[in-house]
Amino acid sequence: MHAKVLRSLLTLILLPSLCAVAPVSTGAVGAIRTNAAPTSSRSLEAGRGAERARPLWPGSRFTEGDRRRAVRRGLRFIYRTALDENNFEQYGSDYLWCFYTVGESVSDAGLRRTARRMGVERARRWRRTHRSLPEGATAQEVSDFAFGSDAADSLGLRDDKLKEQIRLAASRFTARDFLLFDPASEPPPSDVPDECEFDKARNERGATTCRRCGRPLKMRTRADVWYDALITAYVGDRFGVRLGADYGEVLKLLPTLRPYRGHEGGANAEFYDTVYAVTHVVYTLNDYGQRSLSPSLLPDELEFLRANLREAIAQGDADMLGEFMDSLRAFGLTDRDDEIRAGMEYLLARQNADGSWGDVSERDIYLRYHPTWNGVAALSNYAWRGDGPTPAKMRALSAVGAARKD
Ligand SMILES: [Zn+2]
Repeated sequence: MHAKVLRSLLTLILLPSLCAVAPVSTGAVGAIRTNAAPTSSRSLEAGRGAERARPLWPGSRFTEGDRRRAVRRGLRFIYRTALDENNFEQYGSDYLWCFYTVGESVSDAGLRRTARRMGVERARRWRRTHRSLPEGATAQEVSDFAFGSDAADSLGLRDDKLKEQIRLAASRFTARDFLLFDPASEPPPSDVPDECEFDKARNERGATTCRRCGRPLKMRTRADVWYDALITAYVGDRFGVRLGADYGEVLKLLPTLRPYRGHEGGANAEFYDTVYAVTHVVYTLNDYGQRSLSPSLLPDELEFLRANLREAIAQGDADMLGEFMDSLRAFGLTDRDDEIRAGMEYLLARQNADGSWGDVSERDIYLRYHPTWNGVAALSNYAWRGDGPTPAKMRALSAVGAARKD
């Protein structure tokens, strides 16, 4: 039987057990177990029935049990798609990051365990297929290897030999190779063309027509280019291999994106990228859901998020809505806040039959699993490991404040 088919079958057979509440000894983490939950945890389950039947808040049409089921179905969908060889080849590093962050951050211990187990299993696979950098790897390939290695390391599967290869290869590229601009010497640029809509060709910075087909190119927004750079620098800092710039160098340019504008009834074409830029400030500062942030750290960003969450609901954009919700939770909003309640009602009413969120007819698997990841993140509560960014991040953020006063 073809390996991919075999794996898909394994998923169907094994996934229900992954989500059982059976306690897993630490020694067995990562092993996919088929045994059913022992009787004791079944009666525990029954005891929890009352809590699960409780409405999420007085008057809510959904219960704690609905939320619990929804996040499990969402995570199973993500894992199912990650087991597909083509999907994993394309987005393996991102899938690892998803399982790692859910496994580290949410307060639902069962969900954390399940995500971690999925992550460890996929990280083993990723390590087997990423033993060394390809000959003549591009900056983008080096970045992707750093992303995957960092996530696999975080899941406990280190490969220091590969890390040295990545370090050596990274040192040969410039900031512009990695980030498309040099944060040390210029603000986020507005002359980076998006890939050609017609033939997907990538074109040099400054090009206005496609080198392959001659059609006019659309430019990427400054916010879009900037937050890509922020994520890359963040992963480089985490991993300990500089990918073009330090995190602080990129973060320092945040004020160039202010003041933030809303959707303005469609008049602001940069709205969408502004949302993702702001949410990724939150994620990189709080290590994707691991630490809470004081509202006083980023008042402009918090105000933007609060003011615009309902736009994502109006647009029926589950991915964007998820970004708003877990970012707002980082600033201390909870199920008691109207914005969060509106988002939860929306997501719980709109989950697809296969457990995903978003457009089921979408062909790019990234646009299927990413909204689903965001749905899981948005419906989750978080077990904060600490208040505020780590000291190094706090220093980077102080430099942003100083830059604003200049
Ligand atoms: Zn073209």
